[in-house]
Amino acid sequence: MNTETHDSANVDAAEIDKFSRLAHKWWDKTSEFKPLHDINPLRLGYIDGHAGLAGKTVLDVGCGGGILSESMAKLGADAVTGIDMAEKSLKIAKLHALEENVGNISYRHIRVEELAEEMPHAFDVVTCMELLEHVPDPAAIIRACAELVKPDGMVFFSTINRNPKSYAHAIVGAEYLLGLVPRGTHDWQKFITPAELARMCRQAGLDVIDSKGMTYNPLTKIYRLDDNTDVNYQIACRPQ
Ligand code: SAH
Repeated sequence: MNTETHDSANVDAAEIDKFSRLAHKWWDKTSEFKPLHDINPLRLGYIDGHAGLAGKTVLDVGCGGGILSESMAKLGADAVTGIDMAEKSLKIAKLHALEENVGNISYRHIRVEELAEEMPHAFDVVTCMELLEHVPDPAAIIRACAELVKPDGMVFFSTINRNPKSYAHAIVGAEYLLGLVPRGTHDWQKFITPAELARMCRQAGLDVIDSKGMTYNPLTKIYRLDDNTDVNYQIACRPQ
């Protein structure tokens, strides 16, 4: 068993252990993390298209091994900070940034709620991708992201919708039939509908200005961005 322990609220230790056990594979593009590598150009383009990353200070919440963080740093963000609760993943992220000679990136093991108290309204761009469906209280994470962004900044979330189709695609398809991610990666009950996500954002003081679906075609094995938010989707928000 993994020995990382967490006594803080809003961190599911079993989730952190799950990701810690796989941490050495973050940058193996054929591994369990292949889907994140495959979707990365799409979400990077989406974020850059809305927020213009060049010269911006960016926070990536639940950054894992740094797939998105590093790509944002390479695209010209002034400084990227990645935070996660799995220390092993952060070690891999730091090592990879060193190997790639990416200097404008730093990683910290800190809860997002704590960082919000330490650095309120410090970031131009806050990204929180594929995290909300892994935490006990997603609304608290969203509130912390809203605290961390500058009044004229932008916040991005991605997660998985909750309906019979998303159960069929994200659990039965991705975990059992296609084996894209390990069984048990996702708990369908923790998936979040776009309406629920928009409500939590509004309550946190964020307006959803755009949403896009990310659809996987199992025949071509290609992901694309479209207007279908039935399964995977991402949203762009601005402070109200
Ligand atoms: N955002 C990254 C990784 C997604 S996987 C990407 O899209 O490429 C989910 C990540 O969330 C894992 O790295 C896991 O360790 C992290 N995580 C889970 N619960 C967390 C929490 N409460 N706070 C911060 N990170 C958390």
